[in-house]
Amino acid sequence: MTGSLLIKNVWLAAGDAAPLRKVNCLIGKDGNIAALEKEFSACAAEVRLDGRGLILAPGFIDAHGHSDISALAAPECFSKVSQGVTSEVCGNCGLSAFPVTPENRSHLQELYSNYGVDISWNSCQEYLDFCRSSHCSMSTVPLCGHNTLRAAVRNYGEGETDRGEIEKMCSLLDRELSCGAAGLSFGLLYTPGIFAGSEEICALMRIVAKHGKVCAAHLRSEGEKLVESVQEMIDLSLESGLKHFHFSHLKTAGEENFGKIDKVFELFDEARRKGVEITCDRYPYIESMTQLSVALPGAWKKMDDVKLKKTLESAEEKIALIAQLRAAKSEEYWQRCRIVNTAHPRFAPYRGKCIADIPGDVVENAVEMLAFDPVNCQAAFATMSEENMRNIIAQPFCVAGSDGNALPSDGRFGKTHPRSFGAVAGFLRISLDMGISIEESVSKVSGKTASIFTLEDCGVVAPGKVGDLVLFDPDSVDSKADFLAPETPAEGIVTVIKNGEIIYN
Ligand SMILES: [Zn+2]
Repeated sequence: MTGSLLIKNVWLAAGDAAPLRKVNCLIGKDGNIAALEKEFSACAAEVRLDGRGLILAPGFIDAHGHSDISALAAPECFSKVSQGVTSEVCGNCGLSAFPVTPENRSHLQELYSNYGVDISWNSCQEYLDFCRSSHCSMSTVPLCGHNTLRAAVRNYGEGETDRGEIEKMCSLLDRELSCGAAGLSFGLLYTPGIFAGSEEICALMRIVAKHGKVCAAHLRSEGEKLVESVQEMIDLSLESGLKHFHFSHLKTAGEENFGKIDKVFELFDEARRKGVEITCDRYPYIESMTQLSVALPGAWKKMDDVKLKKTLESAEEKIALIAQLRAAKSEEYWQRCRIVNTAHPRFAPYRGKCIADIPGDVVENAVEMLAFDPVNCQAAFATMSEENMRNIIAQPFCVAGSDGNALPSDGRFGKTHPRSFGAVAGFLRISLDMGISIEESVSKVSGKTASIFTLEDCGVVAPGKVGDLVLFDPDSVDSKADFLAPETPAEGIVTVIKNGEIIYN
């Protein structure tokens, strides 16, 4: 046999949870897996790699990423590839890079201004063509984001959609699902998704159901109203005939809500009995990261970033916000908040540190940072339970999702949560340490994820499948990134192969 790459002497965890077996793996000149044999009697390959008895797995799939634009700006995708990730499901939390219309183009351009990518496309098809021409080291498989979709029809404003608007959204969604979007994502905590009523959500779910695809959601509430928010998604799935619902970054936010996890799992079981498949993803951290603007009270919360920046140009508005924010948030709240990224020169040296440790008044500092650049002002909130995190990761329906971006190694797009460089490797470590087998743990970062999002090419190692592979050491694989050094690469990832070519080792 002949091929371009022969990987010898490895234990194969094929991604489908089948028992480990010792193999040699031959990748053909087309970049696909040509053969898996115990021993090749005669085999010619351009490159030979000794796997030293390590684990050969499918290239990992990140079930929950936001690399829609960052992967185009940093096509080496170092933060992901260095943890073995060769594919990512992006377009999460309601935010995708399409559909683009005159209603949302300038907003999206502003939102992604950090990356310097010109948003020149309109549809999913055109976006995917653009991705192909960017030669990214990692494949991005996009969901269509509900917030982007809604804004494409009626901008980012408040209010319920009318019949005609829902119809327009449905036909755009239908188009995007027909040409490569893997499903629909909701971000019901964010504008303008926060304004969507059940009629709108249900109509869109029906379109997804017609395509046999999946809906995912960042819930309306992950804390106080967690149970109600889970119930809302399940009820609408049942009403619309949707067959698969995926809960994004499942968590119980806020100590008073830690006890709700059992009720959530009960609702999942009940939904399954009624015919809806339920899955979730999780990152291995108890700190979330989002824009600092989520801390804002009342009407401020309903402003999109562009409007917020404009409003805070007024000194009076700034003073008003400071007073309201001081009344709304306790000292303890700020103790749990870490400033991850800000472009403000006075505060940039404190990136990675607790916001309460910055000299000066904490509320005034927060408002200053928001006024300077709300889009890129990101904060981490330590509001989750470690015990629930492990419990969620251990569930057979939970797969790894970073909630992070593909980023370069040099930090040129600003600081980030350690999850961008460590979530998938860290998930694998926790899974293995909890006694979940290598085969099953690998399937939670590959095969299971591929089946949730109906990715046919990747996620399983078998002849004919694309040559996306990772060679790793199960004893040492782990995340090494933290908030002060978020760009630290993961450990234990020995070689990463994309389309039959070695891209990391
Ligand atoms: Zn989210």
